[in-house]
Amino acid sequence: MVSYVVITGGVVSSVGKGIFSASLGCLFKSRGLQVTIQKLDPYINVDAGTMNPYQHGEVFVTEDGAETDLDLGHYERFIDENLARENNCTMGKIYGAVVERERRGDYLGDTVRVIPHVTDEIKGQIRNVASDGESHRIVIIEIGGTVGDIESLPFLEAIRQLKKDVGPGRAVYLHVTLVPHLVPSGELKTKPTQHSVRDLRSIGLVPDFIIARTSVPLSTSMIEKIALYCDVEPDHVIQNRDLEHIYELPLHLLEQKLDERIMRLLNIPVTPPAMDEWRDWVMELKKEKPVVKVGLVGKYVELRDAYLSIIEAVRHASVKCGVSVNLVRIDAENLLMGPVEEILSTLDGIIVPGGFGGRGIEGKIGAIRYAREGKVPFLGLCYGLQGAILEFARNVCGLEGANSVEVDAHTSCPVIHQLPGQEDIKEKGGTMRVGSYLCEVKEGTKAYAAYGAPLIHERHRHRYEVNNEYIPALTSHGLVVSGVNPGSGLVEIIELADHPWFLACQFHPEFKSRPMKPHPLFVDFLKAVSAAKGIS
Ligand code: GLN
Repeated sequence: MVSYVVITGGVVSSVGKGIFSASLGCLFKSRGLQVTIQKLDPYINVDAGTMNPYQHGEVFVTEDGAETDLDLGHYERFIDENLARENNCTMGKIYGAVVERERRGDYLGDTVRVIPHVTDEIKGQIRNVASDGESHRIVIIEIGGTVGDIESLPFLEAIRQLKKDVGPGRAVYLHVTLVPHLVPSGELKTKPTQHSVRDLRSIGLVPDFIIARTSVPLSTSMIEKIALYCDVEPDHVIQNRDLEHIYELPLHLLEQKLDERIMRLLNIPVTPPAMDEWRDWVMELKKEKPVVKVGLVGKYVELRDAYLSIIEAVRHASVKCGVSVNLVRIDAENLLMGPVEEILSTLDGIIVPGGFGGRGIEGKIGAIRYAREGKVPFLGLCYGLQGAILEFARNVCGLEGANSVEVDAHTSCPVIHQLPGQEDIKEKGGTMRVGSYLCEVKEGTKAYAAYGAPLIHERHRHRYEVNNEYIPALTSHGLVVSGVNPGSGLVEIIELADHPWFLACQFHPEFKSRPMKPHPLFVDFLKAVSAAKGIS
């Protein structure tokens, strides 16, 4: 009952395999199939948690506390399902497991090699996500990187073997490539695609579909040319056009009947797709709406992907609120150079996102002060909460040297300190407070108004935390602790009562936002932003 749809990429990286895989998952799900998506990443890091966002974009966190590739965020948003640790597997994790087995003596007597030991481990990881469900289950496997990379060879070999292992009609291979458009001559070039398919064939992989990413439409003759050179039927050459919004891609693929064609190859009965709600939502998204301007004050501003889930969560909430958000990224470090008011005065709302280390924190604190004093709607996320606490401690409670021990390990006023039990941890990888934790929400607060529930779950990723010794000082000056983790008593949500909307959370609500299920905190933040701008 399990079928596999394997997606490889060629020609260039960042060709959009992640959004493509997610879109395909969305279509299969709309046809009533059970779907899961697994990302196989060729790098040697055991997970994405130790990587700088500048290199790899944001680290996405799953319910079960895995620190994963950002593509898992696309998958969750498009298929509207929570994924888990097994849905992201890196080469580091594979090699780690193989070396561990070798030390244990599992391969005693054998020379441990890429084939079969590493490839068997990869296939084992694929089987982990493929456990049989009640209805037909499709496992989409996206292989990170580009064909031709040394690192991804063991993954490609494993999926070559997979086709034989699972038997005929159970695995379909899609190759996503770029068909560049040369602007001066107006020509589209298929040669890189031909070369990429040749590379694939040289390692024994034969694609069933070519997914051609293009900026302009492909003519019939161009499609026929790709089909001829790549040895697929013309109706198996699918256009993957640059679109205004990523959420349009499932509809674009549906028009070309891609999901249906794959289902036929896999001998799965084709049921009608239930994509009406998605289509209506995309229409709402594209509709012209009143514009509000929100500043995202962070330190990884040059790279859009560093704040991907926040950007998407704002987008989802904006559709619900009937506004269009001009989300401007503001460099927290630069903020200290000029007068804060001048830079921020055109904003209708401010978000301070998560982050690590001391760089930029004073700029964030400056922005938070501006939001608090100027009554500008404010949403703080993780480090944003810690910054809000520091700002309040310093400027309202008069605790002048208030700091986080992450910024100053020897601060005399550690308002943000290390989580209990973190002091002795020496290893950086996988040791933060990460994943879903409970939070009790206090009635009568802005947080309660947003959630409408006394008990919620949210995803975390942090090492530092509000120092509860300072809570009496903070609350006696008007800070409201509106969310607390039961049991540990850790502060999860804070807010201000005498402000139109000033709220910060220790967790990352952005990870749980979905197109048609926008996150309540982002929705209420945008409602406050709209109200401040006079949009009802
Ligand atoms: N650096 C802070 C901590 O580790 C905040 C982390 C974050 O924003 N994700 O606690």
